[in-house]
Amino acid sequence: MADGSPVQAAPDGAQWSDWTWQMRHRIRTAEDLAAYVAPTPDETQAVSALADRFRFVITPYYASLMDPADPDCPVRRQVVPRMAELADPAGLADPLDEVAHSPVKNVVRVYADRIAFCVNNECALYCRYCLRKRMVGDEDWAMKKRELSEAVDWIRRTPEIRDVLLTGGDPLVFSDDRLEWLIAEIRAIPHVEIIRLGTRLPVTLPFRVTDALCDMLARYHPIWVNTHFNHPKELTPEAAEACDRLTRAGIPVGNQSVLLRGINDDAETMKALCEGLVRMRVRPYYVYQAQMLEGTAHFRVPVERGIEIFRALRGRTSGYAIPQYVLDTPYGKVPLDYPYLRGREGDDIVVESYDGRVWREPNPPD
Ligand SMILES: *Cc1c(COP(=O)(O)O)cnc(C)c1O
Ligand code: SF4
Repeated sequence: MADGSPVQAAPDGAQWSDWTWQMRHRIRTAEDLAAYVAPTPDETQAVSALADRFRFVITPYYASLMDPADPDCPVRRQVVPRMAELADPAGLADPLDEVAHSPVKNVVRVYADRIAFCVNNECALYCRYCLRKRMVGDEDWAMKKRELSEAVDWIRRTPEIRDVLLTGGDPLVFSDDRLEWLIAEIRAIPHVEIIRLGTRLPVTLPFRVTDALCDMLARYHPIWVNTHFNHPKELTPEAAEACDRLTRAGIPVGNQSVLLRGINDDAETMKALCEGLVRMRVRPYYVYQAQMLEGTAHFRVPVERGIEIFRALRGRTSGYAIPQYVLDTPYGKVPLDYPYLRGREGDDIVVESYDGRVWREPNPPD
């Protein structure tokens, strides 16, 4: 637990690192929150004003990373609601039009060869900028076993699908047994080459990544995991151990972040995050431009800022520590790159180096 945490009834260590204890003792009210931080009047008001809009739940572990005194703490801002969520006239419920891309309940198909399969509506906690807040945390979206089977049947009769991404919500909120049943069903489909899991639990509830879970996953290789760290404060020893258990099970671990105003929208923070991830053997994969999603105007930053942040990393850290900055669209993900290829002169191409020097290179003929 963070030093100086005001938690009154500190649990004993064994319970603290038991993920089911964490799930049972999650923060659900402004009173619960007050055991960890001194909530501002805006935060207290927002917890009740937003109660029926988007669920408010935080694991004790993640809450212990919040700065008790600083409402702008980058951990706290990700999970504690603010009244600003009600002031976003441009925000949409489903900016990627995912519902229209669903051949069967909770399967999103934007690409011919791969799908995002939203197997679970639940997470360990709810991020205020969640792209799937229209369904995540909403009990009406819970997938029954029969509905999961119907989606698996769709994959079975769609031979183009070679890559299945299990996401949600969070697939690791499932019990080991339920998750194994689902993965075994998908693994039995000959045309499915890789199974990926998109999960934030290494960040929000690292104790969920048990040896038993990793042993189970390792029986269904190739399995890949993408997790979701947004700020260096989240790179704790517990999170590092969770990622280490996954990589030792032979699972490549990647990271996707969202570019969030006041949380990670400066080059120094992003560099510390990405270098910290690489030290944990986690490969920064994507950083998403925040979508035009309801209740998130206070998180969005202009694309120019994002481009400058990743330009500032180029040449100044390992290539491994530089993720692809992308905008997700209903037509797929689009890279948002600084235009290093400046143009053409005669038969040459003209490029710009990371530090602004211009280089001419002959362009080989076709
Ligand atoms: C992001 C995404 C994928 C996976 O895309 P990659 O670029 O291969 O990581 C697949 N389907 C949907 C709908 C997605 O949003
Ligand atoms: S963990 Fe992922 S799916 Fe769950 S609330 Fe956060 S962003 Fe949404």
